[in-house]
Amino acid sequence: MKTYSKLYIDGGWHAPANNNLIEVINPATEAVIGTIPAGGAADVAAAVAAARSSLSGWSSTKPGIRAGYLTQIYEALVVRGPEIAELITNELGMPIKLSQRIQAGLPTVVLESYINLLGDFDFSERIGNSLVLKEPLGVVAAITPWNYPLHQLMIKVAAALAAGCTVVAKPSELTPLNAFVLAEIIDSSGLPPGVFNLVSGYGAEAGASLISHPDVDMVSFTGSTVVGKGIMSRGAETVKRVALELGGKSAAILLDDAHLETAVKATLSSCFLNSGQTCSANTRMLVHQDQYNAVVELVRCHVVPYVPENPLNTQARIGPLVSAGQRDRVLEYIRSGLEEGAELLFGGVEPPDGLPLGYYVRPTVFGRVTKEMKIAREEIFGPVLSIMTYRDENEAIEIANDSVYGLAGGVWSANHERAERVAKKLQTGQVDINGGRFNPLAPFGGYKQSGNGRELGKYGLEEFLQTKSLQF
Ligand code: NAD
Repeated sequence: MKTYSKLYIDGGWHAPANNNLIEVINPATEAVIGTIPAGGAADVAAAVAAARSSLSGWSSTKPGIRAGYLTQIYEALVVRGPEIAELITNELGMPIKLSQRIQAGLPTVVLESYINLLGDFDFSERIGNSLVLKEPLGVVAAITPWNYPLHQLMIKVAAALAAGCTVVAKPSELTPLNAFVLAEIIDSSGLPPGVFNLVSGYGAEAGASLISHPDVDMVSFTGSTVVGKGIMSRGAETVKRVALELGGKSAAILLDDAHLETAVKATLSSCFLNSGQTCSANTRMLVHQDQYNAVVELVRCHVVPYVPENPLNTQARIGPLVSAGQRDRVLEYIRSGLEEGAELLFGGVEPPDGLPLGYYVRPTVFGRVTKEMKIAREEIFGPVLSIMTYRDENEAIEIANDSVYGLAGGVWSANHERAERVAKKLQTGQVDINGGRFNPLAPFGGYKQSGNGRELGKYGLEEFLQTKSLQF
Protein backbone atom coordinates (compact mmCIF):
# COMPACT_ATOMS: atom_id res chain seq x y z
CA MET A 1 0.00 0.00 0.00
CA LYS A 2 1.41 3.39 -1.04
CA THR A 3 0.04 6.15 1.12
CA TYR A 4 0.79 9.70 0.07
CA SER A 5 -0.76 12.38 2.27
CA LYS A 6 1.26 15.41 1.17
CA LEU A 7 1.75 17.45 -1.99
CA TYR A 8 5.12 18.51 -3.36
CA ILE A 9 5.18 22.30 -3.36
CA ASP A 10 8.09 24.76 -3.26
CA GLY A 11 10.71 22.08 -2.73
CA GLY A 12 8.98 20.35 0.20
CA TRP A 13 6.14 18.00 1.14
CA HIS A 14 3.12 19.92 2.47
CA ALA A 15 -0.20 18.78 3.87
CA PRO A 16 -3.05 19.82 1.56
CA ALA A 17 -5.58 22.43 2.66
CA ASN A 18 -8.24 19.73 3.13
CA ASN A 19 -7.95 16.09 4.20
CA ASN A 20 -9.76 14.52 1.27
CA LEU A 21 -8.06 11.45 -0.18
CA ILE A 22 -8.43 9.57 -3.46
CA GLU A 23 -8.07 5.78 -3.48
CA VAL A 24 -5.98 4.20 -6.21
CA ILE A 25 -7.27 0.83 -7.39
CA ASN A 26 -5.41 -2.05 -9.02
CA PRO A 27 -7.57 -2.88 -12.07
CA ALA A 28 -6.42 -6.52 -12.10
CA THR A 29 -7.43 -7.25 -8.49
CA GLU A 30 -9.91 -4.42 -7.72
CA ALA A 31 -7.95 -3.87 -4.48
CA VAL A 32 -7.03 -0.44 -3.12
CA ILE A 33 -3.26 -0.10 -3.52
CA GLY A 34 -2.72 3.49 -2.49
CA THR A 35 -4.11 6.86 -1.54
CA ILE A 36 -3.23 10.37 -2.65
CA PRO A 37 -4.46 13.83 -1.61
CA ALA A 38 -7.38 15.36 -3.50
CA GLY A 39 -5.81 18.79 -3.87
CA GLY A 40 -7.98 21.85 -4.42
CA ALA A 41 -7.86 25.55 -5.24
CA ALA A 42 -5.79 26.55 -2.18
CA ASP A 43 -3.12 23.95 -2.96
CA VAL A 44 -3.04 25.01 -6.60
CA ALA A 45 -2.64 28.64 -5.52
CA ALA A 46 0.34 27.72 -3.30
CA ALA A 47 1.96 25.66 -6.07
CA VAL A 48 1.48 28.36 -8.71
CA ALA A 49 2.90 30.99 -6.34
CA ALA A 50 5.99 28.80 -5.79
CA ALA A 51 6.38 28.24 -9.54
CA ARG A 52 6.02 31.98 -10.18
CA SER A 53 8.58 33.00 -7.57
CA SER A 54 11.19 30.51 -8.82
CA LEU A 55 10.69 31.48 -12.46
CA SER A 56 13.10 34.39 -12.76
CA GLY A 57 15.97 32.38 -11.25
CA TRP A 58 15.34 29.19 -13.24
CA SER A 59 14.63 30.89 -16.56
CA SER A 60 17.94 32.74 -16.41
CA THR A 61 20.08 29.63 -15.79
CA LYS A 62 22.38 28.55 -18.61
CA PRO A 63 21.18 25.52 -20.64
CA GLY A 64 24.16 23.49 -19.37
CA ILE A 65 23.07 24.04 -15.75
CA ARG A 66 19.56 22.89 -16.57
CA ALA A 67 21.00 19.83 -18.35
CA GLY A 68 22.95 19.04 -15.17
CA TYR A 69 19.79 18.93 -13.04
CA LEU A 70 17.98 16.86 -15.67
CA THR A 71 20.90 14.41 -15.65
CA GLN A 72 20.53 13.95 -11.89
CA ILE A 73 16.84 13.17 -12.40
CA TYR A 74 17.64 10.82 -15.30
CA GLU A 75 20.11 8.79 -13.25
CA ALA A 76 17.69 8.30 -10.36
CA LEU A 77 14.88 7.42 -12.78
CA VAL A 78 17.01 4.66 -14.32
CA VAL A 79 17.80 3.25 -10.87
CA ARG A 80 14.13 3.21 -9.86
CA GLY A 81 13.00 1.84 -13.26
CA PRO A 82 12.04 -1.70 -12.12
CA GLU A 83 10.03 -0.30 -9.19
CA ILE A 84 8.28 2.21 -11.50
CA ALA A 85 7.38 -0.51 -14.01
CA GLU A 86 5.76 -2.66 -11.33
CA LEU A 87 3.98 0.33 -9.81
CA ILE A 88 2.46 1.36 -13.15
CA THR A 89 1.43 -2.23 -13.92
CA ASN A 90 -0.38 -2.25 -10.58
CA GLU A 91 -2.07 1.13 -11.19
CA LEU A 92 -2.90 0.70 -14.85
CA GLY A 93 -2.88 -3.00 -15.71
CA MET A 94 -0.33 -2.98 -18.53
CA PRO A 95 1.60 -6.29 -18.76
CA ILE A 96 4.81 -6.05 -16.80
CA LYS A 97 7.21 -6.74 -19.69
CA LEU A 98 5.63 -3.91 -21.68
CA SER A 99 5.62 -1.65 -18.62
CA GLN A 100 9.34 -2.17 -18.16
CA ARG A 101 10.08 -1.15 -21.73
CA ILE A 102 7.43 1.52 -22.31
CA GLN A 103 6.09 2.89 -19.03
CA ALA A 104 9.44 2.97 -17.20
CA GLY A 105 11.88 2.92 -20.13
CA LEU A 106 10.40 5.53 -22.46
CA PRO A 107 10.45 8.40 -19.92
CA THR A 108 14.21 7.91 -19.53
CA VAL A 109 14.65 7.99 -23.32
CA VAL A 110 12.65 11.21 -23.53
CA LEU A 111 14.50 12.83 -20.65
CA GLU A 112 17.86 11.89 -22.13
CA SER A 113 16.83 13.39 -25.47
CA TYR A 114 16.19 16.76 -23.78
CA ILE A 115 19.52 16.61 -21.93
CA ASN A 116 21.21 16.09 -25.32
CA LEU A 117 19.11 18.77 -27.02
CA LEU A 118 20.22 21.35 -24.45
CA GLY A 119 23.74 20.80 -25.75
CA ASP A 120 23.00 22.11 -29.24
CA PHE A 121 19.67 23.97 -29.32
CA ASP A 122 19.98 27.61 -30.38
CA PHE A 123 18.01 29.83 -28.02
CA SER A 124 18.71 32.83 -30.30
CA GLU A 125 18.93 33.52 -33.99
CA ARG A 126 20.11 36.45 -36.19
CA ILE A 127 17.62 37.57 -38.84
CA GLY A 128 18.95 40.63 -40.72
CA ASN A 129 19.29 43.48 -38.22
CA SER A 130 17.42 41.53 -35.53
CA LEU A 131 18.40 39.19 -32.78
CA VAL A 132 15.52 36.79 -32.18
CA LEU A 133 15.47 35.36 -28.67
CA LYS A 134 13.61 32.20 -27.72
CA GLU A 135 12.59 32.76 -24.11
CA PRO A 136 10.83 30.46 -21.63
CA LEU A 137 7.08 30.86 -21.69
CA GLY A 138 6.70 31.01 -17.90
CA VAL A 139 4.65 28.96 -15.45
CA VAL A 140 3.32 25.79 -17.05
CA ALA A 141 0.38 23.68 -15.87
CA ALA A 142 0.98 20.09 -17.01
CA ILE A 143 -2.23 18.05 -16.93
CA THR A 144 -1.90 14.41 -17.91
CA PRO A 145 -4.01 11.27 -18.47
CA TRP A 146 -3.68 7.74 -17.10
CA ASN A 147 -2.71 5.59 -20.08
CA TYR A 148 1.06 6.26 -20.33
CA PRO A 149 1.22 8.26 -17.13
CA LEU A 150 4.91 8.84 -16.53
CA HIS A 151 5.72 9.17 -20.23
CA GLN A 152 3.09 11.87 -20.71
CA LEU A 153 4.24 13.68 -17.60
CA MET A 154 7.91 13.41 -18.58
CA ILE A 155 7.31 14.71 -22.13
CA LYS A 156 5.96 17.90 -20.60
CA VAL A 157 8.22 18.23 -17.56
CA ALA A 158 11.47 17.48 -19.41
CA ALA A 159 10.71 19.89 -22.26
CA ALA A 160 9.37 22.65 -19.98
CA LEU A 161 12.30 22.49 -17.55
CA ALA A 162 14.77 22.34 -20.46
CA ALA A 163 13.13 25.45 -21.90
CA GLY A 164 13.54 27.30 -18.57
CA CYS A 165 9.87 27.17 -17.52
CA THR A 166 8.61 26.18 -14.08
CA VAL A 167 5.91 23.55 -13.69
CA VAL A 168 2.84 22.61 -11.69
CA ALA A 169 1.90 19.02 -12.58
CA LYS A 170 -1.57 17.52 -12.13
CA PRO A 171 -1.52 13.80 -13.02
CA SER A 172 -4.59 11.67 -13.62
CA GLU A 173 -6.34 10.62 -10.43
CA LEU A 174 -6.53 7.03 -11.77
CA THR A 175 -2.75 6.39 -12.04
CA PRO A 176 -1.05 9.06 -9.91
CA LEU A 177 1.42 7.04 -7.81
CA ASN A 178 4.23 7.16 -10.37
CA ALA A 179 4.07 10.98 -10.33
CA PHE A 180 4.85 10.89 -6.60
CA VAL A 181 7.92 8.75 -7.35
CA LEU A 182 8.99 11.38 -9.89
CA ALA A 183 8.50 14.11 -7.27
CA GLU A 184 10.66 12.12 -4.80
CA ILE A 185 13.36 11.82 -7.44
CA ILE A 186 13.17 15.53 -8.28
CA ASP A 187 13.31 16.38 -4.59
CA SER A 188 16.54 14.42 -4.13
CA SER A 189 18.04 15.90 -7.33
CA GLY A 190 18.38 19.29 -5.63
CA LEU A 191 16.32 21.12 -8.27
CA PRO A 192 15.69 24.64 -6.89
CA PRO A 193 12.46 24.87 -4.81
CA GLY A 194 9.35 25.78 -6.77
CA VAL A 195 10.69 24.79 -10.20
CA PHE A 196 8.63 21.57 -10.13
CA ASN A 197 5.46 21.19 -8.06
CA LEU A 198 2.97 18.34 -7.84
CA VAL A 199 -0.70 18.81 -6.98
CA SER A 200 -2.72 15.61 -7.26
CA GLY A 201 -6.50 15.65 -7.39
CA TYR A 202 -9.60 15.47 -9.51
CA GLY A 203 -9.80 17.25 -12.85
CA ALA A 204 -12.87 19.24 -11.93
CA GLU A 205 -11.13 20.65 -8.82
CA ALA A 206 -7.33 20.71 -8.99
CA GLY A 207 -7.32 20.69 -12.81
CA ALA A 208 -9.97 23.37 -13.21
CA SER A 209 -8.27 25.62 -10.61
CA LEU A 210 -5.01 25.36 -12.53
CA ILE A 211 -6.41 26.26 -15.93
CA SER A 212 -8.22 29.32 -14.64
CA HIS A 213 -5.34 30.60 -12.50
CA PRO A 214 -4.19 33.99 -13.85
CA ASP A 215 -0.54 33.31 -12.97
CA VAL A 216 -0.35 30.21 -15.17
CA ASP A 217 1.07 31.20 -18.57
CA MET A 218 0.56 27.93 -20.39
CA VAL A 219 -1.53 24.79 -20.08
CA SER A 220 -0.04 21.69 -21.64
CA PHE A 221 -2.85 19.16 -21.64
CA THR A 222 -3.05 15.53 -22.73
CA GLY A 223 -6.41 13.87 -22.42
CA SER A 224 -9.82 13.55 -24.00
CA THR A 225 -11.09 15.88 -26.71
CA VAL A 226 -14.14 16.82 -24.67
CA VAL A 227 -12.07 18.03 -21.70
CA GLY A 228 -9.55 19.65 -24.07
CA LYS A 229 -12.27 21.79 -25.63
CA GLY A 230 -13.28 23.08 -22.20
CA ILE A 231 -9.65 23.84 -21.32
CA MET A 232 -9.20 25.79 -24.54
CA SER A 233 -12.18 28.00 -23.83
CA ARG A 234 -11.24 28.52 -20.16
CA GLY A 235 -7.66 29.31 -21.14
CA ALA A 236 -8.90 31.98 -23.53
CA GLU A 237 -10.09 34.10 -20.59
CA THR A 238 -6.48 34.90 -19.68
CA VAL A 239 -5.02 34.30 -23.19
CA LYS A 240 -2.90 31.40 -22.04
CA ARG A 241 -1.00 29.32 -24.51
CA VAL A 242 -2.95 26.06 -24.59
CA ALA A 243 -1.24 23.00 -26.09
CA LEU A 244 -3.63 20.10 -26.56
CA GLU A 245 -2.87 16.42 -27.18
CA LEU A 246 -6.25 14.74 -27.54
CA GLY A 247 -8.00 11.62 -28.77
CA GLY A 248 -7.67 9.62 -31.96
CA LYS A 249 -9.33 7.13 -34.31
CA SER A 250 -6.39 6.20 -36.47
CA ALA A 251 -6.53 4.02 -39.57
CA ALA A 252 -4.05 1.52 -40.97
CA ILE A 253 -4.46 1.31 -44.75
CA LEU A 254 -3.45 -2.06 -46.18
CA LEU A 255 -2.91 -1.28 -49.86
CA ASP A 256 -3.55 -4.18 -52.23
CA ASP A 257 0.17 -4.84 -52.77
CA ALA A 258 0.98 -4.95 -49.02
CA HIS A 259 2.44 -7.97 -47.27
CA LEU A 260 -0.87 -8.76 -45.60
CA GLU A 261 0.32 -11.06 -42.84
CA THR A 262 2.91 -8.56 -41.54
CA ALA A 263 0.38 -5.74 -41.75
CA VAL A 264 -2.34 -7.69 -39.92
CA LYS A 265 0.01 -8.75 -37.11
CA ALA A 266 1.27 -5.19 -36.65
CA THR A 267 -2.22 -3.66 -36.71
CA LEU A 268 -3.50 -6.11 -34.08
CA SER A 269 -0.48 -5.28 -31.95
CA SER A 270 -1.03 -1.51 -32.35
CA CYS A 271 -4.74 -1.79 -31.60
CA PHE A 272 -4.40 -4.06 -28.55
CA LEU A 273 -1.34 -2.43 -26.97
CA ASN A 274 -2.18 -1.36 -23.41
CA SER A 275 -5.62 -2.99 -23.80
CA GLY A 276 -6.40 -0.56 -26.62
CA GLN A 277 -5.86 2.42 -24.33
CA THR A 278 -3.42 4.21 -26.63
CA CYS A 279 -4.33 7.53 -28.25
CA SER A 280 -2.41 6.72 -31.44
CA ALA A 281 -3.65 3.11 -31.78
CA ASN A 282 -4.65 2.02 -35.26
CA THR A 283 -8.22 1.04 -34.42
CA ARG A 284 -9.52 0.94 -38.00
CA MET A 285 -7.99 -1.47 -40.49
CA LEU A 286 -8.82 -0.60 -44.11
CA VAL A 287 -8.51 -3.48 -46.57
CA HIS A 288 -9.22 -3.86 -50.27
CA GLN A 289 -12.64 -5.46 -50.77
CA ASP A 290 -11.14 -8.33 -52.80
CA GLN A 291 -8.75 -9.15 -49.94
CA TYR A 292 -11.32 -9.06 -47.13
CA ASN A 293 -11.63 -12.85 -46.78
CA ALA A 294 -7.87 -13.36 -46.82
CA VAL A 295 -7.42 -10.66 -44.17
CA VAL A 296 -10.14 -12.16 -41.96
CA GLU A 297 -8.35 -15.54 -42.09
CA LEU A 298 -5.10 -13.88 -41.04
CA VAL A 299 -6.85 -12.00 -38.22
CA ARG A 300 -8.44 -15.22 -36.91
CA CYS A 301 -5.01 -16.81 -36.84
CA HIS A 302 -3.00 -13.97 -35.27
CA VAL A 303 -5.54 -12.75 -32.72
CA VAL A 304 -5.42 -16.03 -30.77
CA PRO A 305 -2.46 -15.15 -28.48
CA TYR A 306 -4.24 -12.03 -27.19
CA VAL A 307 -5.71 -13.70 -24.12
CA PRO A 308 -6.33 -11.35 -21.19
CA GLU A 309 -4.39 -12.38 -18.11
CA ASN A 310 -2.85 -11.12 -14.89
CA PRO A 311 -0.51 -8.32 -16.04
CA LEU A 312 2.18 -9.39 -13.57
CA ASN A 313 2.65 -12.63 -15.56
CA THR A 314 5.77 -12.10 -17.61
CA GLN A 315 4.14 -13.80 -20.61
CA ALA A 316 1.03 -11.57 -20.52
CA ARG A 317 0.24 -9.66 -23.72
CA ILE A 318 -2.94 -7.95 -22.59
CA GLY A 319 -4.21 -7.03 -19.13
CA PRO A 320 -7.38 -5.39 -17.82
CA LEU A 321 -8.74 -1.95 -18.64
CA VAL A 322 -7.86 0.81 -16.20
CA SER A 323 -11.20 1.06 -14.36
CA ALA A 324 -14.69 -0.36 -14.09
CA GLY A 325 -15.99 2.76 -15.83
CA GLN A 326 -13.64 2.29 -18.77
CA ARG A 327 -14.58 -1.40 -19.03
CA ASP A 328 -18.29 -0.56 -19.08
CA ARG A 329 -17.76 2.14 -21.72
CA VAL A 330 -15.90 -0.31 -23.97
CA LEU A 331 -18.59 -2.99 -23.51
CA GLU A 332 -21.19 -0.41 -24.59
CA TYR A 333 -19.26 0.12 -27.82
CA ILE A 334 -19.04 -3.63 -28.45
CA ARG A 335 -22.83 -3.84 -27.93
CA SER A 336 -23.33 -0.96 -30.35
CA GLY A 337 -21.21 -2.72 -32.98
CA LEU A 338 -23.42 -5.79 -32.65
CA GLU A 339 -26.61 -3.72 -32.79
CA GLU A 340 -25.45 -1.78 -35.85
CA GLY A 341 -24.79 -5.01 -37.75
CA ALA A 342 -21.00 -5.31 -37.79
CA GLU A 343 -19.67 -8.87 -38.20
CA LEU A 344 -18.21 -10.14 -34.88
CA LEU A 345 -15.06 -12.04 -35.82
CA PHE A 346 -13.51 -12.44 -32.40
CA GLY A 347 -14.22 -11.52 -28.77
CA GLY A 348 -17.51 -10.00 -27.61
CA VAL A 349 -19.18 -8.76 -24.46
CA GLU A 350 -18.87 -11.90 -22.32
CA PRO A 351 -16.22 -11.60 -19.59
CA PRO A 352 -13.02 -13.54 -20.36
CA ASP A 353 -12.74 -17.02 -18.79
CA GLY A 354 -10.99 -17.64 -15.49
CA LEU A 355 -10.76 -14.02 -14.32
CA PRO A 356 -13.41 -13.49 -11.61
CA LEU A 357 -11.85 -10.19 -10.53
CA GLY A 358 -10.49 -7.30 -12.57
CA TYR A 359 -11.77 -5.04 -15.33
CA TYR A 360 -11.03 -7.38 -18.22
CA VAL A 361 -12.61 -7.26 -21.67
CA ARG A 362 -12.17 -9.78 -24.49
CA PRO A 363 -10.06 -8.34 -27.31
CA THR A 364 -12.64 -7.88 -30.03
CA VAL A 365 -12.50 -7.65 -33.82
CA PHE A 366 -15.41 -6.53 -35.99
CA GLY A 367 -15.53 -7.06 -39.75
CA ARG A 368 -17.70 -5.36 -42.38
CA VAL A 369 -17.75 -2.13 -40.38
CA THR A 370 -19.26 0.77 -42.33
CA LYS A 371 -18.35 4.41 -41.94
CA GLU A 372 -21.58 5.53 -40.26
CA MET A 373 -21.30 3.00 -37.39
CA LYS A 374 -20.36 4.37 -33.98
CA ILE A 375 -17.47 1.91 -33.69
CA ALA A 376 -16.02 3.42 -36.90
CA ARG A 377 -16.39 7.03 -35.77
CA GLU A 378 -15.81 7.31 -32.03
CA GLU A 379 -12.73 6.73 -29.95
CA ILE A 380 -13.43 3.52 -27.99
CA PHE A 381 -10.18 3.42 -25.98
CA GLY A 382 -10.37 -0.33 -25.56
CA PRO A 383 -9.22 -3.48 -27.40
CA VAL A 384 -11.66 -3.23 -30.31
CA LEU A 385 -10.56 -3.34 -33.96
CA SER A 386 -12.88 -2.39 -36.84
CA ILE A 387 -12.15 -3.80 -40.31
CA MET A 388 -13.53 -1.69 -43.17
CA THR A 389 -13.26 -2.30 -46.92
CA TYR A 390 -12.42 0.08 -49.77
CA ARG A 391 -12.67 -0.23 -53.55
CA ASP A 392 -9.59 1.76 -54.59
CA GLU A 393 -6.76 3.83 -53.19
CA ASN A 394 -8.73 7.08 -53.27
CA GLU A 395 -11.58 5.59 -51.34
CA ALA A 396 -9.13 4.23 -48.77
CA ILE A 397 -7.75 7.75 -48.23
CA GLU A 398 -11.26 9.17 -48.07
CA ILE A 399 -12.35 6.67 -45.39
CA ALA A 400 -9.16 7.21 -43.37
CA ASN A 401 -9.73 11.00 -43.42
CA ASP A 402 -13.43 10.72 -42.65
CA SER A 403 -12.92 11.42 -38.95
CA VAL A 404 -12.97 14.39 -36.61
CA TYR A 405 -9.64 13.05 -35.33
CA GLY A 406 -6.23 13.13 -36.99
CA LEU A 407 -3.56 11.80 -34.68
CA ALA A 408 -1.79 8.88 -36.36
CA GLY A 409 -2.14 6.17 -38.97
CA GLY A 410 -0.34 3.57 -41.02
CA VAL A 411 0.16 2.72 -44.68
CA TRP A 412 1.30 -0.70 -45.92
CA SER A 413 2.51 -1.31 -49.46
CA ALA A 414 5.29 -3.15 -51.27
CA ASN A 415 5.88 0.07 -53.20
CA HIS A 416 7.57 2.67 -51.01
CA GLU A 417 6.72 5.61 -53.28
CA ARG A 418 3.08 4.62 -53.39
CA ALA A 419 2.97 4.30 -49.60
CA GLU A 420 4.56 7.72 -49.18
CA ARG A 421 2.14 9.29 -51.67
CA VAL A 422 -0.83 7.92 -49.70
CA ALA A 423 0.72 8.90 -46.35
CA LYS A 424 1.06 12.51 -47.52
CA LYS A 425 -2.68 12.62 -48.20
CA LEU A 426 -3.64 11.54 -44.68
CA GLN A 427 -4.81 14.36 -42.41
CA THR A 428 -2.91 13.19 -39.35
CA GLY A 429 0.14 14.28 -37.39
CA GLN A 430 1.99 10.98 -37.78
CA VAL A 431 1.93 8.11 -40.28
CA ASP A 432 3.98 4.92 -39.97
CA ILE A 433 4.93 3.37 -43.30
CA ASN A 434 5.23 -0.43 -43.30
CA GLY A 435 5.42 -0.41 -39.52
CA GLY A 436 8.03 2.37 -39.22
CA ARG A 437 9.09 2.41 -35.59
CA PHE A 438 8.42 5.10 -32.98
CA ASN A 439 10.98 7.91 -33.09
CA PRO A 440 11.30 9.79 -29.77
CA LEU A 441 12.79 12.82 -31.57
CA ALA A 442 10.04 13.20 -34.19
CA PRO A 443 7.16 15.62 -33.45
CA PHE A 444 4.04 13.93 -32.08
CA GLY A 445 0.65 15.62 -32.15
CA GLY A 446 -2.68 15.90 -33.86
CA TYR A 447 -4.48 17.41 -36.81
CA LYS A 448 -8.15 18.41 -36.46
CA GLN A 449 -9.74 17.54 -33.10
CA SER A 450 -6.75 15.43 -32.04
CA GLY A 451 -5.14 18.63 -30.83
CA ASN A 452 -2.89 21.52 -31.73
CA GLY A 453 0.35 20.74 -29.90
CA ARG A 454 3.57 19.02 -30.86
CA GLU A 455 5.57 17.07 -28.32
CA LEU A 456 8.98 15.35 -28.32
CA GLY A 457 12.33 16.56 -29.62
CA LYS A 458 12.96 20.14 -30.66
CA TYR A 459 9.34 20.75 -31.65
CA GLY A 460 8.36 19.77 -28.12
CA LEU A 461 10.91 22.19 -26.68
CA GLU A 462 9.64 25.04 -28.85
CA GLU A 463 6.13 24.60 -27.42
CA PHE A 464 7.46 26.03 -24.16
CA LEU A 465 9.29 29.00 -25.72
CA GLN A 466 8.14 32.42 -26.87
CA THR A 467 10.07 34.69 -29.21
CA LYS A 468 11.31 38.23 -28.79
CA SER A 469 13.04 40.34 -31.49
CA LEU A 470 15.71 42.93 -30.73
CA GLN A 471 16.46 45.32 -33.65
CA PHE A 472 19.90 46.87 -34.09
P1 NAD B 1 -9.43 13.06 -19.43
O1 NAD B 1 -9.61 14.16 -20.40
O2 NAD B 1 -10.61 12.53 -18.72
O3 NAD B 1 -8.40 13.50 -18.28
C1 NAD B 1 -7.09 13.95 -18.57
C2 NAD B 1 -6.60 14.80 -17.42
O4 NAD B 1 -7.41 15.98 -17.34
C3 NAD B 1 -6.69 14.14 -16.05
O5 NAD B 1 -5.59 14.55 -15.26
C4 NAD B 1 -7.98 14.72 -15.48
O6 NAD B 1 -8.02 14.73 -14.07
C5 NAD B 1 -7.93 16.13 -16.03
N1 NAD B 1 -9.23 16.80 -16.13
C6 NAD B 1 -10.45 16.24 -16.28
N2 NAD B 1 -11.40 17.19 -16.31
C7 NAD B 1 -10.77 18.39 -16.18
C8 NAD B 1 -11.20 19.75 -16.14
N3 NAD B 1 -12.49 20.06 -16.23
N4 NAD B 1 -10.27 20.70 -16.01
C9 NAD B 1 -8.96 20.40 -15.94
N5 NAD B 1 -8.49 19.14 -15.95
C10 NAD B 1 -9.39 18.14 -16.08
O7 NAD B 1 -8.65 11.91 -20.22
P2 NAD B 1 -8.25 10.48 -19.69
O8 NAD B 1 -9.48 9.64 -19.60
O9 NAD B 1 -7.37 10.61 -18.50
O10 NAD B 1 -7.32 9.97 -20.91
C11 NAD B 1 -7.81 9.36 -22.05
C12 NAD B 1 -7.86 10.34 -23.20
O11 NAD B 1 -6.57 10.92 -23.39
C13 NAD B 1 -8.19 9.67 -24.51
O12 NAD B 1 -9.13 10.45 -25.21
C14 NAD B 1 -6.86 9.65 -25.25
O13 NAD B 1 -6.97 9.59 -26.66
C15 NAD B 1 -6.24 10.90 -24.78
N6 NAD B 1 -4.78 10.84 -24.96
C16 NAD B 1 -4.19 11.60 -25.93
C17 NAD B 1 -2.82 11.53 -26.13
C18 NAD B 1 -2.11 12.36 -27.17
O14 NAD B 1 -0.89 12.49 -27.09
N7 NAD B 1 -2.81 12.92 -28.15
C19 NAD B 1 -2.06 10.67 -25.34
C20 NAD B 1 -2.70 9.91 -24.38
C21 NAD B 1 -4.06 10.01 -24.19
